[in-house]
Amino acid sequence: MEKHTVTFSATVLGTPRTGPRRELKRAIESYWAGTIDQVELASIARTLREQHLIELRDAGLDSIPVGTFSYYDHVLDTAVLLGALPERVAGIADELDRYFAAARGDATVTPLEMTKWFDTNYHYLVPEITPDTTFALAPEKLLGELAEAVALGISARPVVVGPITFLKLSKAVGSSGSGAESESESESGSESESGSLLDRLDEIVPLYADLLAQLGAAGAEWVQIDEPALVTDLTAAELDYVRSTYDRLAAVTGRPSILVASYFGDLGAALHVLAGTAVDGIAIDLIAGTGGVDSLAGVPALANKLVVAGVVDGRNVWRTDLDAALSTLGTLLGSAGTVAVSTSCSLLHVPYTLDVEPDLDDNLRSWLAFGAEKIAEVTVLARALRNGVETVSAELATARDALANRRSDPRLHNTTVRARLDALGPDSSRRAPAAERRVKQSERLDLPALPTTTIGSYPQTSQIRIARAARRKGEIDEAEYVRRMQSEIADVVALQEKLGLDVLVHGEPERNDMVQYFAEQFDGYFATANGWVQSYGTRCVRPPILYGDVVRRNPMTVEWITYAQSLTSKPVKGMLTGPVTILAWSFVRDDQPLPDSARQVALAIRDETVDLQASGIRIVQVDEPALRELLPLRAADKQAYLDWAVEAFRLATSGVSDATQIHTHLCYSEFGEVIDAIAGLDADVTSIEAARSHMEVLDDLNAVGFDLGVGPGVYDIHSPRVPSIEEIVVSLHAALKAVPAERLWVNPDCGLKTRGAEEVGASLHNLVEAAILVRAAL
Ligand code: GLN
Ligand code: ZN
Repeated sequence: MEKHTVTFSATVLGTPRTGPRRELKRAIESYWAGTIDQVELASIARTLREQHLIELRDAGLDSIPVGTFSYYDHVLDTAVLLGALPERVAGIADELDRYFAAARGDATVTPLEMTKWFDTNYHYLVPEITPDTTFALAPEKLLGELAEAVALGISARPVVVGPITFLKLSKAVGSSGSGAESESESESGSESESGSLLDRLDEIVPLYADLLAQLGAAGAEWVQIDEPALVTDLTAAELDYVRSTYDRLAAVTGRPSILVASYFGDLGAALHVLAGTAVDGIAIDLIAGTGGVDSLAGVPALANKLVVAGVVDGRNVWRTDLDAALSTLGTLLGSAGTVAVSTSCSLLHVPYTLDVEPDLDDNLRSWLAFGAEKIAEVTVLARALRNGVETVSAELATARDALANRRSDPRLHNTTVRARLDALGPDSSRRAPAAERRVKQSERLDLPALPTTTIGSYPQTSQIRIARAARRKGEIDEAEYVRRMQSEIADVVALQEKLGLDVLVHGEPERNDMVQYFAEQFDGYFATANGWVQSYGTRCVRPPILYGDVVRRNPMTVEWITYAQSLTSKPVKGMLTGPVTILAWSFVRDDQPLPDSARQVALAIRDETVDLQASGIRIVQVDEPALRELLPLRAADKQAYLDWAVEAFRLATSGVSDATQIHTHLCYSEFGEVIDAIAGLDADVTSIEAARSHMEVLDDLNAVGFDLGVGPGVYDIHSPRVPSIEEIVVSLHAALKAVPAERLWVNPDCGLKTRGAEEVGASLHNLVEAAILVRAAL
């Protein structure tokens, strides 16, 4: 198959899409609220897309991704492209409303499940595939966005999620496809089911073939097919599917050149398979991939391909070492047919630009590159390849200076922190045996059987938001802000006393976010003003940037917690975020291994637990909801991660005496692969999301000999529904089948900050009543 391929030299695999000032987020939310209509929404979206295309072209990219725009999520867009929305939304006549119903549900429809996109903090919607799903191509969105670009004279490269990745991320559900039932039958992403969904390739590959032909006819020279699933462990059978799929797609007549994009790791065996097909290009992540550029030398078939070299980190915020990148590119020129410069993955995972960060000092600014700055780096590197290194010598010099400035900055090395960590022996992260701790804690706490508690946050009331905004604008002073927060805390404590809960919390009114709150109080961290990154749908987060050694300047939570404790004789839990979660939801240093950063954060958290204890606090909870999230994609890397993650938690929580009870909280995941690690945390009490999985996690914990306190969530806080006393009693009886009463705690699934005050009062009332009933019958 001889076809003439026009290559390109500078591109990115995707871009942020919420708008530089989150315009798209606001427009979509206005549409949901009914304040703008579909026509207006479409016009705002189109303007944003066109402006963005022009910016990317003017920045110097010569192949520009299109079709990466999304009203909610690109995996959901792929389900629409393939006609694979669930049956339960089919009755919704309006296309956009049907789409949003699948994404977020409505009064009658359960939305698709949401889960994390590989090891990032972006969440996608999990397509549901039933035996009855009849796939049908709906290419209008992609063709429309291509046409917009073509009309602007832009060299556009349509992007789609590839067939292998689409099926591997989807979940197989029973034929009814009714959300609630199917959820208990099968969880997304499990190996066996996704394996079986790959037999549906025969149904969707022809649709992709048709799409390729249509894109070719519409003027696309290249198409990018995203296959990040190829960087995970694949069986021989799955690799065969990869081969046959791309053989078939490469054989389509009239197709554009095909770029298969991998990212988030090494392709491993899949590289040889892909290189052996007639696809025209392969995008390779040279940042997350540890195999590095040398591993490519052993793949002779790359000599006929365009290699799109991901040498600019698409997921982190550091300025690229351009000299190192050029040397990588130079090596690559020896094995690839042609080389184009790119980011390692889509820029979806970083903010738009540094231009909107007023508070950065100049040093720090010079070390960083957000989306726009990364695009500039790509074009500089591409120019060096095309025209010679001497044509970019000024840019190289600037980059070198910035790097040297960063390396020599005193904030990178805090000798006190480092000396303290060096002095800690292995015993510093070990507590006395759990049984001994249990005796001392129960004497001190004097709790009933089946103690009741909550996970930490209470509804974020409008008063809280008003107070925070007023403080930010300087309309109220610190003393007034503290007074208002204390009044919130007093309300939450009074509510819990009235409800009869046994272990109280202060409600977390002062926390904008469970990571940023701490990051703002550490040296070595910078919290951005506008560094928004899409987390899911219209929800954006601002991950703080860890750039130097972590130093806790002062106690961070003690005043709030001791204030709450002063209002009640019941124990109030201190509430902290664990080291793994703090790192998972930050941009982290790339100049030292992550486990080293984790130990520094752990030390700071440890100091806080000790201060809380010294102020009379008897229970401290250290949340690790992101424990599962950082789990590496390849089996071979998992244990090393779990070892350091567990060690960091234990370092953070073993500075206190045996009589201080350590709690942890875990959620957002299936815990299968981290069950041993959960036991390894050695927390006296673990509260864990369980309501939606019918307490199965308890059996898993038993299987690894877990014998500590556990509070499986007895109701799902993600829904506004108030659980009845009877159903909580049923949950508790189910839990008691797996856990003896001495170890069982009673709590909701997660924090309550997203819920309304009324539901929370009613739900917790029923939770306490249910615990009393079950307790009485023990
Ligand atoms: N303590 C936190 C809260 O209750 C935990 C949040 C979480 O698990 N993500 O909000
Ligand atoms: Zn949670």
